[in-house]
Amino acid sequence: MPANLRTWIEIDKKAYLHNLSFIQQNFKGPIISSVIKGNAYGHGIEQIVPLAQDGGINHFSVFSLDEACRAYSVKNESSTLMIMGFIPNDSYEWVINHGINFFIYNASSLQQAVKAAKKVKKKAIIHLEIETGMNRTGLDEDYLDKSLRIISDNKNHIELKGVCTHFAGAESIANHVRIKRQIINFNRNLNHIKKKGFKPELIHMASSAATIVYPRTRKDLVRTGILQYGFWPSFETRIAWMQKYKHTIDPLRRVLSWKSSVMHVKTVEAGEFISYGTGYFAHEKKKIAVIPVGYSDGYNRSLSNNGRVLIHGKVAPVIGLINMNMLIADITTIKNVKAGDEVVLIGKQKNNTIQVSSFSEFTQQVNYELLTRLPEATPRIIKN
Ligand SMILES: *Cc1c(COP(=O)(O)O)cnc(C)c1O
Repeated sequence: MPANLRTWIEIDKKAYLHNLSFIQQNFKGPIISSVIKGNAYGHGIEQIVPLAQDGGINHFSVFSLDEACRAYSVKNESSTLMIMGFIPNDSYEWVINHGINFFIYNASSLQQAVKAAKKVKKKAIIHLEIETGMNRTGLDEDYLDKSLRIISDNKNHIELKGVCTHFAGAESIANHVRIKRQIINFNRNLNHIKKKGFKPELIHMASSAATIVYPRTRKDLVRTGILQYGFWPSFETRIAWMQKYKHTIDPLRRVLSWKSSVMHVKTVEAGEFISYGTGYFAHEKKKIAVIPVGYSDGYNRSLSNNGRVLIHGKVAPVIGLINMNMLIADITTIKNVKAGDEVVLIGKQKNNTIQVSSFSEFTQQVNYELLTRLPEATPRIIKN
């Protein structure tokens, strides 16, 4: 593969498009907003947006302004961008001028938006985020009324495009009662908004998990993140889906692989320690491969003596401490390994696979966390 790269991430275009069509076929009706926060869950905003557009997606959700700027630079003119979270006070003009939708979760940011809209002479396109029980962002009832008054007073500067909320953990049955209560609270607030004469076009509340577990939360738009990358929000949601539709194999495909190549090979005599300190003792003669990937690349240090990589399609255990820029794999039982041979850190090689979820056994990370911690600096390459 790319001989000049130390480590890289491959994005499997076919797998990604397969997942998109799974989503499009199973969740017919609502607009599918592709959630690309967290650098598109580690897959790369600049890589995923064009692929998604190839697959027929024309709505994207990000968390913050910086992500919106990156998505804006690669999206088609006809695609809509929506910021679900943070916008610095001095950036509303840019956001409004570029026609970007955004969540309003307090009255003061709405005032900022009005001011900016007047200045750039363009309407701010807003979605009111309602507090329904997550107790994070979201307008409480008195702030909601205040916001509605501001909108009424500024009809020429504000377009109330959407009303939305977010669930506090739809991926777990343990939260069932809380989610149901959120749905009731949302409907009450929505009726209140409608009674005051507002007609928001897009009602939305579902992330991937709610889309799967609570179909009636799909409404006008669903904000699907993790599913498009081939992961389920939780083990429970995967089992629920597969049982309901009698799948025997996972209908989603993993999109991302993480690779490197062997940098150096050597033999270590029995009785020696390998890598820093005394973390690994060679009881017998060992052959090792040094791989130029370390914790600075997002390879968690707690995988010291715990991780596994693939070389020649075989599992090679990580031995010794993970260094800042290198790790060491035991290749004693793998023949003819030489510098330059491909190493798979996540993904498939011949008949073996290293899964993202295998990392969580040792690092306590959920898929979401591991993926989004893959450094932005690591090159993403699209495999057609
Ligand atoms: C991240 C996020 C989503 C998408 O969540 P997934 O579980 O990845 O589908 C949807 N809505 C909001 C507000 C989010 O922050």
